[in-house]
Amino acid sequence: MASVSLPESAGVVIIGGGVIGASIAFHLIEAGVRDVLVLERDEPASGSSGKPIGGVRAQFSDPLNIRLGQRSLEAWREFGARPGADIGLRSVGYLFLLTDDADVATFGRGVEVQNELGVPSRIITPREALALCPYLDPRTITAAAYSPADGYALPGAAVTGYLRAARRHGATVRTRCAVTAIETDGAAVRAVRTRDGTVRTPAVICAAGAWSGAIGAMAGVDLPVTPLRRQIALTGPLTPPPPRIPFTLDFGSTLPRGFREADGSVTSGSLRVRFNEVEARGIALTRRGRALYDELVGEPAEQWECRFPATERELAVDEHAFFTYEPVLDHPADGRRPPRELAGLLDSGRLTATPIVYEDFLPRSAAGIFQSNLTDTGIQDTSRPGAHYDAHWLSEAIGRPVHDSFDLYAAQQNHSLERARRALGIVEETP
Ligand SMILES: Cc1cc2nc3c(=O)[nH]c(=O)nc-3n(C[C@H](O)[C@H](O)[C@H](O)COP(=O)(O)OP(=O)(O)OC[C@H]3O[C@@H](n4cnc5c(N)ncnc54)[C@H](O)[C@@H]3O)c2cc1C
Repeated sequence: MASVSLPESAGVVIIGGGVIGASIAFHLIEAGVRDVLVLERDEPASGSSGKPIGGVRAQFSDPLNIRLGQRSLEAWREFGARPGADIGLRSVGYLFLLTDDADVATFGRGVEVQNELGVPSRIITPREALALCPYLDPRTITAAAYSPADGYALPGAAVTGYLRAARRHGATVRTRCAVTAIETDGAAVRAVRTRDGTVRTPAVICAAGAWSGAIGAMAGVDLPVTPLRRQIALTGPLTPPPPRIPFTLDFGSTLPRGFREADGSVTSGSLRVRFNEVEARGIALTRRGRALYDELVGEPAEQWECRFPATERELAVDEHAFFTYEPVLDHPADGRRPPRELAGLLDSGRLTATPIVYEDFLPRSAAGIFQSNLTDTGIQDTSRPGAHYDAHWLSEAIGRPVHDSFDLYAAQQNHSLERARRALGIVEETP
């Protein structure tokens, strides 16, 4: 017996009840399309759409993104009337703090294009920036780029707003109903299958966000989309509540260390980390590994070949990177006691090592948001003036400890290694 009633057929099946699927459903219905069915495997906005702070802006550097941003802002502003829901839009503006002359020039060019297209952005002085955001120290910035039309809204409310309106006008929305297969006939779509039944349809729209690759595969289409788990930190409300400030981003502190590219060139000084977007990821290096990486980053390839570990095994054994260890419990018995040390355990196949992967997608640290004197290795350059906000300040402000990522990775690694050793029967000898 089906747990949800599904129609036997639909004019269009939309897979995914995030902001994209919900918006498509609403716009299709509005355009007069009938029999629209949205299938969501969990709840609306349970994927990426439920996660963001909801920054909305038209401050981009290229005309296409600017126009898209403008259309979105217009849609968000009109949302109360069409489709008709409160999405908590706050037009507080977006404020990019700039410390570098080259960045000021780049943002200046962006502002010119934005103004030509009607975006009311402008370059402002440090004093003007201070008037907008009292947290910042105007001595530490050269200028700022500001657009009062940008801001933030509640992404979950946008999803439910679109879905409710689509439903009101005849769309069917089924939650907790995962699509498990797509039936095709040559290039034509015939039906989608779910555990609750099959729906005949000539049109399927994939709005499955990060999971789109799997949906494409169901129809024999290769979509190069791979999901990646991201990390979100939440705090309780601050007391007293913070003042109303623009969505503020210190552009300078979003620059991480130099990155060595595959061809040996070093990228630094260009924007590698963008707010809320993953720009860099890799194996989490230990302090020792990080120091070696920094030492070698600009060195020729031969130096790398002879000095930097070339395999994950070496990275693990030399303690240059962090790993999660798992015991291999069905390892064939050879009558020998398992080796005690890490290298032996890995080499004998009794232990597997999966790298702990880090992601850079936010400014170097939450406390660094208002720092303007961070070097490109992410530490404070005390020879330059900077705001007094740091990890300690942040910790006091939120009343919770701010953890060091090296310590967290080390704890995860050590815990997995201890558990694996116990599972393999390697008991620490008491002296
Ligand atoms: C931490 C974070 C911060 C962000 N900040 C911002 C921001 O400030 N501003 C901004 O504009 N963007 C931001 N983004 C990006 C934004 O959230 C996404 O671009 C957007 O939500 C994508 O919407 P979507 O509908 O494509 O995907 P999703 O919301 O992920 O929707 C896809 C849906 O498909 C469903 N699904 C998957 N497989 C199946 C299946 N087999 N059958 C049925 N349903 C299925 C999933 O359950 C999911 O609900 C942020 C994202 C994250 C993660």
